Amino acid sequence: MIAAILARVAARGALGLPRTAVATGLAVAATSVVPWWRRRSINGRVETEHSRFIAAAETSLDGFCLLDAVRGPDGGIADFCATYLNRNMETFTGVARADLQNKLLSKMLPTTLGALFRELCEVVETGQPAREERRFPKPEVSAQWVRYQAVRLADGVALTCSDVTEAYRTKERLERLAEFNDSIFQNAPFSIFATDPDGIVSAMNGAAEKLSGYAREHLVGKASITILHDRRELEARARELSLPVAVATDGFQVLTANVTEGEMAEHEWTCIRRDGTRTPISLAMRGVTGATGELSGYVGIAVDVTERKAMLEYVTHLATHDQLTGLAGRAHLQDRIVQAVERAHRYGTKVAIFVLDLDQFKRINDSLGHWAGDQVLIETANRLRDAVRSSDTVARMGGDEFVVVMEDMVSLRDIEHCAANLVTRFAPEMTIEGHQLHITASVGVSVYPDVHGDARHMLKWADAAMYSAKENGRNQHLMFNEDMLRETADRLSLERALRNAIARNELRLHYQPQISLTTGAVIGMEALLRWQHPELGLLMPAKFMPLAEETGLIIPIGEWAFAEACCEGQQIREELGMDLTLAVNLSPRQFGQKNLLQVAQHALRLSGLPANALEIEITENTLMVNSAATMEMLENLRALGVRTAIDDFGTGFCNFSYLIQYKVDRLKIDQRFVRLAATDANAAAVVRSIIAMSHGLDVKVVAEGLETEQEMRFLVRRRCDEAQGYLISKPVPAADFGGVVRRYMTKTAASSRPTTARLSRLA
Ligand code: C2E
Ligand code: MG
Ligand code: MG
Repeated sequence: MIAAILARVAARGALGLPRTAVATGLAVAATSVVPWWRRRSINGRVETEHSRFIAAAETSLDGFCLLDAVRGPDGGIADFCATYLNRNMETFTGVARADLQNKLLSKMLPTTLGALFRELCEVVETGQPAREERRFPKPEVSAQWVRYQAVRLADGVALTCSDVTEAYRTKERLERLAEFNDSIFQNAPFSIFATDPDGIVSAMNGAAEKLSGYAREHLVGKASITILHDRRELEARARELSLPVAVATDGFQVLTANVTEGEMAEHEWTCIRRDGTRTPISLAMRGVTGATGELSGYVGIAVDVTERKAMLEYVTHLATHDQLTGLAGRAHLQDRIVQAVERAHRYGTKVAIFVLDLDQFKRINDSLGHWAGDQVLIETANRLRDAVRSSDTVARMGGDEFVVVMEDMVSLRDIEHCAANLVTRFAPEMTIEGHQLHITASVGVSVYPDVHGDARHMLKWADAAMYSAKENGRNQHLMFNEDMLRETADRLSLERALRNAIARNELRLHYQPQISLTTGAVIGMEALLRWQHPELGLLMPAKFMPLAEETGLIIPIGEWAFAEACCEGQQIREELGMDLTLAVNLSPRQFGQKNLLQVAQHALRLSGLPANALEIEITENTLMVNSAATMEMLENLRALGVRTAIDDFGTGFCNFSYLIQYKVDRLKIDQRFVRLAATDANAAAVVRSIIAMSHGLDVKVVAEGLETEQEMRFLVRRRCDEAQGYLISKPVPAADFGGVVRRYMTKTAASSRPTTARLSRLA
């Protein structure tokens, strides 16, 4: 208000303004010039003007004062004298008005006058108003930051001051905040871009420069953010979001299509750097609205996801691929089959699925150890990879089962050819740990669309065909046919039934006597498992043991057999009053059972069978799986007093060094050798040397599967110690065992040529 009046006054030009104070009656300096209000009073308006001026000045929120120039002898301005100060000037300076009135400016502002004084002089001399903001020290001026305006008024100035301290503080605070924000923005570890509503880059930080390869001055205010995008990717995204064509052609609209106010919309893109290289990024965008609520632009945060992507790919690979062989895993295979079937459906081609299983792989694993088994699997994977085209899929289903998926097949003849090729890939021997291994494989094949069914069934059909190939004699391929389904179903229902066999009390043990070939007396028995199947009748171990091993059911079944054999065996011993040995079979897998020792101890305690009457039969393979745990278990069993026999000797990979190393009590020659030895010179030589070496090691030899007198004569002549076989008796239920033994003894005793005599004569 005052400033406005003054401006008006100043505009009127030199009115001959007074060197006196206003007429507050406080002080009126002598002057030769008539004061302007007096002159006005001549035309009668002066009083009104004056009181209006005073009222305005006194009520103003600004400080206001009139300063007259005080000139020195040379006519230059030496100081200023305050001729009028309004009330607010007191608040401003913190000094009473009376103490300032008619005071020289140099007295009022002794320390800070300098620059202000020069400015005021200039205003007086040039007539140019000055407008300034200045900081004043505390005791002289109570306000710290003052904005003042000086206007020439006659030979002096009218000075308006306002306290802008608070505004300055706020400004400083805001500046610091802005600086802080800017430093966060600039140094953020992720790239930040800001754009206007049309996508033109309005700001970007250091990380954004590094990511894009563009410096700020290249993009800010000049280019759209879409310069960093792949056009085709934006177009593809537009199609994905079903955006109208018009929108799709504007890349930036695609970029912000999903961006809603206040929320980050994230999407992965390829960032094309300035040098043309590409990197995957994740870009989170959000709209920014101004104070009035309208969209003022966008902020995007971009993160380079190369590493994350690589990590994800690695983890996905781990999850979907077999670690040992690097082949696709089961889940991945399923996807591939689904895709292959879809494509074949579309293009009218065929997909062939080959399920390949190594023959008797378990034996390699059991006899040469898991490390060797792993090497065989790795070599198998390599051979299969070599046998297929790069577009085919090779997967490992687990264990020794592999699957090959071939697409774009045209004729069944080609498919048969490929299957045969897979089988012959195994003809060359594998050298594993110095062993020459002759590995064979059985292959089952199913073909889409010849066999209708979804992807899952394709595998099932091929699997059934593979089982049939095995049953057909292994080392061959078979194409799936409907009959095989029945076999699969049989196998599945057998497995279901076996799971319930113990609970339903369907398992039985039969006992086969063992005799001494020197005395002819019955010296022991072997417990042999049977399954009384509700529909199929009495099943032999060959029918269900492989299934039990495969499914792990061998553990509970073996545990049951152990306890049952000890109980029934002890009853037989008591009934006959004979000190017979009881032999129980244990498969290698049962040695993986941690509590096997407790199972044995419990069975012995419960049955009352002396530990030294118990003999466990293990195969060579159990010995060869040289795991510390297996050996420790054998040692612990032997420590109880339990004896050990090697079953089926001559069929595994075992050699005599193991027998020396792990002192066994008996060695059972496999029935195949017993059968052959009577007629075949080579087999006879093998049996002879087994017997000779065993005797050298103080190990008793038992002949298995003794069926004929001729075999018996041969064994006696070769000084084989003991025998068991149909010639003496078939395995019988415990209840019949006593009868069998008594009949055998009466027969030999009644015979004119008692067995003992007969045997020694033969020898
Ligand atoms: P193994 O231990 O070698 O048992 C001898 C097998 O030869 C028995 O077959 C027996 O019935 C048969 N056998 C005995 N004398 C003759 C003969 O003169 N001629 C012919 N042709 N065969 C004869 P089985 O009972 O079918 O048992 C087969 C295999 O099943 C056993 O071979 C053994 O490895 C396994 N097994 C049987 N019971 C058990 C068990 O309780 N636990 C475990 N882990 N395996 C068992
Ligand atoms: Mg046996
Ligand atoms: Mg045997």
